[in-house]
Amino acid sequence: MQRILVVEDEPTIARAVADRLAAEGFAVEIAADGPSAVERARSYDPELIVLDVMLPGFDGLEVCRRVQAERPVPVLMLTARDDETDMLVGLGVGADDYITKPFSMRELAARVRAVLRRVERSAALPETMLRVGPLEIDHASRRVRRDGTEVHLTPTEFELLGCLARNRGTVLTRAVLLEQVWDWAGASGTRAVDTHVKALRRKLGSDLIRTVHGVGYSLEVRA
Ligand code: CA
Repeated sequence: MQRILVVEDEPTIARAVADRLAAEGFAVEIAADGPSAVERARSYDPELIVLDVMLPGFDGLEVCRRVQAERPVPVLMLTARDDETDMLVGLGVGADDYITKPFSMRELAARVRAVLRRVERSAALPETMLRVGPLEIDHASRRVRRDGTEVHLTPTEFELLGCLARNRGTVLTRAVLLEQVWDWAGASGTRAVDTHVKALRRKLGSDLIRTVHGVGYSLEVRA
């Protein structure tokens, strides 16, 4: 049974999310503030964290930083507004996906499954070490280095980079990336692609991923 930690200080929302995920077959625990979330993440060792941004103690951003500093765990962040999502991605908080309140429990469960599938699929990739220009992408240890220096990526950023690297020199449309990396067929999530590309550029340097306006993205490395 996969374990999920739900971090939310609003009891009604926490209970609804936990009940739905339990009904979907997950083991679920709830934390209601920043410090206890970090402590539960350590003791419960969840496969995924559903994390609200505004929390007592310290906020979801700080929870995310502290938890990810110990081990990379997928995070689905609950945000209050779309512009809050943009702001968080800009800060490089390290969440794998964002869902804006109010959301349906059905959508939440689908997103949770998509994030977990993505992490599993990435771990099962046969190609263990990929070298592209200045980048070394190691699937076994899930580490990325640029010019020998390790760069910390979230599981989604890692998967997005892997997808671009395996198809280097080819322009991938947002729809293709959305389907390959996020497992979504709909077009509504293309903004997620843009925001994660932004995060990758911030971490890896702006010279590797080229924007093809109106089409998509490609990883370009000079020979
Ligand atoms: Ca809250």
